[in-house]
Amino acid sequence: MRIVRRPTPTGPAWGVVDGDVVLATTGRPFVDLEPTVPVGRLDELALLAPVTPSTVMCVGRNYAAHAAELGNAVPAAPLLFLKPPAAIIGPDAPIVRPHDAGRVDHEAELVVVIGRTAWRVDAADAMDVVGGYTCGNDVTARELQRSDPGGQWTRAKGFDTFAPMGPWIETELDPSALRITCAVDDDPRQDARTDQLLVDIPTLIAHISAFTRLEPGDVIMTGTPAGVGPLQAGQRVTVTIEGIGSLTNPVVADRS
Ligand code: MG
Repeated sequence: MRIVRRPTPTGPAWGVVDGDVVLATTGRPFVDLEPTVPVGRLDELALLAPVTPSTVMCVGRNYAAHAAELGNAVPAAPLLFLKPPAAIIGPDAPIVRPHDAGRVDHEAELVVVIGRTAWRVDAADAMDVVGGYTCGNDVTARELQRSDPGGQWTRAKGFDTFAPMGPWIETELDPSALRITCAVDDDPRQDARTDQLLVDIPTLIAHISAFTRLEPGDVIMTGTPAGVGPLQAGQRVTVTIEGIGSLTNPVVADRS
């Protein structure tokens, strides 16, 4: 099932993709969501980000080739950080490039969407708490990531619009060896497979849920492969993950 969030006159609503049509739903994702009547064509609906998490947990340096390209060692344990949920935008929404933040990079990432409350879950049981997967872009102000005091990444990773996600949650997917790519306009930038993840998804869920409770709708951004690079205003960046789809966002300047 592909779960979307869509705007309606009374506020955001869930939907389910059926071919090139979106169906309305009753119930709750991962619990009792049921498709009902068609509400429009997929290519004519402005989709919202398919998640509204309270926690956006992120993993740094989780592909060896990406750690190496930025001159970093592979961490001995999962390198975790948080992005503010306010930074999330949906498909086709603009990434706003701050004029005073230096270089701003794309980072294509597989996003795990939690479907059931996860607290101290063993790796062996971890896939039971996954509701689905979506595409993400861990947009990063690279120079601020290096220069901000205390080695903290909160500002570099947390600007408004720096967490594009979508276009939908794919609930039926084996995430263990998916091709993940990123292109800027027609320029291929990243191309890898998720079997190159240094810490796999069950291990991440066990490690994270050992210290913080993950609730349905929360997300884990699993890290980016090699090939990160800068974004300029006027460009379009597309993250594509096999079995999910493509997430495209234009890049705009915060002032002309
Ligand atoms: Mg990242």
